[in-house]
Amino acid sequence: MIVKILGAHNIELQDTRCISLLIDDILAIDAGALTSSLSLAAQQKLKAVLLTHQHYDHMRDIPAIGMNFYLYENTIDIYSILPVREALSTYMLNDILYPDFMEKPRGKPAIRFNTMEPGHTKSIAGYTVLPVSVSHAVPTVGYEVTSPDGKKVFYTADTGPGLDECWRQVSPDLLIIEVTALNKWHDFALQSGHLTAALLKPELESLKRMKGSLPQIVAIHMNPLDEKGIKEEIAAVAAALNTDIRLGYEGMIIEL
Ligand SMILES: [Zn+2]
Ligand SMILES: [Zn+2]
Repeated sequence: MIVKILGAHNIELQDTRCISLLIDDILAIDAGALTSSLSLAAQQKLKAVLLTHQHYDHMRDIPAIGMNFYLYENTIDIYSILPVREALSTYMLNDILYPDFMEKPRGKPAIRFNTMEPGHTKSIAGYTVLPVSVSHAVPTVGYEVTSPDGKKVFYTADTGPGLDECWRQVSPDLLIIEVTALNKWHDFALQSGHLTAALLKPELESLKRMKGSLPQIVAIHMNPLDEKGIKEEIAAVAAALNTDIRLGYEGMIIEL
């Protein structure tokens, strides 16, 4: 399994992109940087896009990729929980902001939405995909994706603390987890459902207790304006846990 990070941040700047992960060139998680990172040919290779939640930084390229598939007379499969479908059709693909590609063209729409239920696996393009509920400002699922040869990546999505129930359901070789803000923004992180390095630490301690060891860990969704400080705070957590935590970046490739 080859996981490529297309977008690793919570905002877009000239050199940062919003969240998008690409697995083996065919399965994407979140659409913060799909159209800006992939050629039209690479977009047409996608078998499915899994969406974690309805926030703009994770969904923004859905109208754009819908248009690309519409013009290419192709269909892209999107998978997520029901609230994401509702947000898409109410606010984005509502024939006001942009055409409703879940209905157009009639008979063979450019976007086919498939509903996921937290805790229920689906087989998607040969992978086993498990959506797991996490604690965020809106209904949100992380995804554990298992390849045909048994390699597992788990992306938590945007999440606040309290991942024990989530850890019980997954056993990844690679954990991609969010760390959005500096430790000094503790209250903001709790209110908005995000993690700081200090909030990450007990979550990883709990995972280690439960599984006996920690997987490879990559942090994403950093605020680029505070990234230097976040990197130092994450390094302190990694040292305390005697493990390695890497910061994700645009173009990072992780092979499992
Ligand atoms: Zn969010
Ligand atoms: Zn986000």
